[in-house]
Formats: sequence, structure tokens, C-alpha cells
Amino acid sequence: MNQQDYIALEDQYGAHNYHPLPVVLARGEGAKVWDTDGKEYFDFLSAYSAVNQGHCHPKIVGAMVEQAQTLTLTSRAFHNDQLGKYEKFVCDYFGFDKVLPMNTGAEAVETAIKLARKWAYEVSGIPENEAQIIVCENNFHGRTTTIISFSNDENARRSFGPYTDGFIRIAYDDLDALKAALEANKGRVAGFLVEPIQGEAGVYVPSEGYLKGAKELCEQYGTLFIADEVQTGISRTGKRLAVDHENVKPDILILGKAISGGVYPVSAVLADNAVMNVIKPGQHGSTFGGNPVAAAVAMAALTVAEEENLAERAEELGQKFRSELGKYIKQSQIAKLVRGKGLLNAVVINDHEESDTAWNICMRMAEKGLLAKPTHGNIIRFAPPLVISEQDLMRGVNIITETLKEFEG
Ligand code: PMP
Repeated sequence: MNQQDYIALEDQYGAHNYHPLPVVLARGEGAKVWDTDGKEYFDFLSAYSAVNQGHCHPKIVGAMVEQAQTLTLTSRAFHNDQLGKYEKFVCDYFGFDKVLPMNTGAEAVETAIKLARKWAYEVSGIPENEAQIIVCENNFHGRTTTIISFSNDENARRSFGPYTDGFIRIAYDDLDALKAALEANKGRVAGFLVEPIQGEAGVYVPSEGYLKGAKELCEQYGTLFIADEVQTGISRTGKRLAVDHENVKPDILILGKAISGGVYPVSAVLADNAVMNVIKPGQHGSTFGGNPVAAAVAMAALTVAEEENLAERAEELGQKFRSELGKYIKQSQIAKLVRGKGLLNAVVINDHEESDTAWNICMRMAEKGLLAKPTHGNIIRFAPPLVISEQDLMRGVNIITETLKEFEG
């Protein structure tokens, strides 16, 4: 079969809920992937920051295979011998009392919303059904019906109503807006849900001090600071968590994607006892959440992130990436700026959002052996696996600059 045949199959039999680049991948190792014709690419997306530890990491895959041959699923009707070990491991790793295991990022966000609301009614004394959650403009937290209810992405939201109530949307990176919303809704706000860096929106890094200031405001108003680190967590931005850059401990932490190294769907919600203990049996759960394979895989993936110093690598390599690419962009007509933290970066194309330029640039980069994807019409995100060698990263930078050159003027 050639690549067009694989794509035709997906077109005919799969729902058209994505618009992938026309590349059919068949194999991956470290920072590289190969298509069905054997062509090699640098993966500069990492499945939206899930494959931080590199494709098919032998320690993570090994843990999965070993566990899959022993016990895969019990549901939570019974205990399993991996879950408690993993729960202790992940709580110690991130410094929380308790974890609630889930499978996907959106599910974990839903979990955090339920948790914050229950806490609001049982602990904080907000009248039943009145709890509000403050969220940010241009947020991305997933695409369930509740999550799209507070999205301002009209394509994701329109024609899927009626929507879930109880969300207040304010400007991102704006402490005055947060303070005003907390003040105007005093005694009714359960939590502030925020991405420490807005990934899908185009890698918007907030001003220094924003997260710390937001956490302080939340404390002052008795509301929960809820960090969605699904995309930014697990060493991606140069620290274990993006909130670590400002020494902020969230009241609720949401993790997904790279918590499993992209090997298996795993997500998690962490909180201390004062919050997590409001959840009682039967109030939340999932058949696959906390299954033994997920537990074994996540322990291995988090161990690899530590053993291979992925946070330090992301920090160092990210600086080099931005500085090398920045040299070119300074004199570029087509690319405006490169921004980001660690190895979560984006280049803004000097064009308006509706144009195809970013898409065409990604198509051309793919021909030259580098995979990336536009996020919006004029922003290209670059997030290679954190295990990428410096040499390969610089090869990637060359492909990016060579391609941009072709699009100049
Ligand atoms: N939160 C954030 C910040 C994300 O970036 C994403 C995925 N891009 C999600 C939640 C949703 O995760 P999932 O696709 O696993 O549901």
C-alpha cells in the first residue's frame, strides 16, 4: 500500500474530526519517525508534547510489555498490585497527598472541575449549584461538552450546545482581570483553571510573576488554583512542571500526555487531602483509570524523565533552539518571532490567521524531513522529544530556516 491508500482508508472509514498532514507514519525511535515508504523525519511535535521521553523508549515499552503479560485490567472493582505503588510514586514525585488516576487529558480536566465544585460546596461553603470556575480567553483544555462550554474557539464550540454553566472567562496573563472577577463573584468562585503556558493557543508564555500572583490571589479569595499541565508538564518547559518556574504549588494539578511518554493513555489529577478527600466512592471513576498497565507505564515514564535529566535538557536545548532560530528570524520577512520555554516553542508567521502559509511551510518542511503542525493559521509549534541530540536539534533548525528562506518575499 502507498501512503495515499492509507489516507484513503482513513478518509472513507474514519470520522473527519482531524486534518492531518498527509504523512503516514509507521515507526518511531527517539526523536525520529519513519513513514510507510521508509522516509525518515525529525518529529518536532511529539504528539502535542506527549512523547517527551522519545518514541518507543525501551524502558517504558519494556514496563508496558511486562505488565501486559501479567495483568492488564481489573477495573476498580478490585485492587491491583501496581496501583498503590504508582500512586505513592506519583504523589512523592510531585509533592501531593493524593492522586485520582484517569486516562486522557480532557477526562482529567473534567475530574478537576468536579473536584473543585465538590470542594466548594463541602469545604468552602459556596451554596449548592452556585460555584463558578474562572477560565482564560483562548484556553484549550479538551473537547468534551463541559470543556467546550467555556472555550472561545467557535469551531470547537458552535452547534454543540446546550452548554454547561458555571464558568467565567477572563483575559489570560492579566492579574487585574483575575482580581476583578474574584471580587465581583466573591464567595462563589470554586477555582481558577489555567494553563501555565497556553499551548494550543500558540505557545503564549505569560509574564513573569503571573502564576505566582494568580496563586496569591486565589489564596486571598479562598479559591483553588488549578493548573492544567497536560501539555507543559513532565519536563517539557525546562522544569518538571511549568509552575515550578515560579515555585507555585497548585491546589489541583492536572497531568496527561507525557506522564506515560506517549506509550499508553494515562492522565492524573493530584491534590492534597483537604481537597481530594471530598470525593467518595461512586462519585467519579473510569474502567481503565488506574489500571495496572497504566500504573507500570507511568512509573517507568516518570523515572526515565528523571534518569535522563529531561528537564535540564529541555532548558538547555530550548535556549539554543530559540537563539539559533532567532538569528535567522531577526532578518526574516516571513517569520516574525520565536517564543517559548524549554522545548515548547512556536514561530509566528508574519501573515494573517486565515492564510495557508503556515500549512504550506509545514508541508515543505515535511518534504525536507521535519514534522511540525500549525496551531492556528499563522503559528507553527516546535516541540521535539526532549531526548533529541543537540546535533539533530540543529539539523532541525537548518531545515526550518532553509524552508522559511524559500517562502521569503
Ligand atoms: N489540556 C491541555 C492543556 C492540552 O494541551 C490538551 C491536549 N492538547 C488537553 C488538555 C486534552 O488532552 P487529551 O487530548 O488527552 O484529552
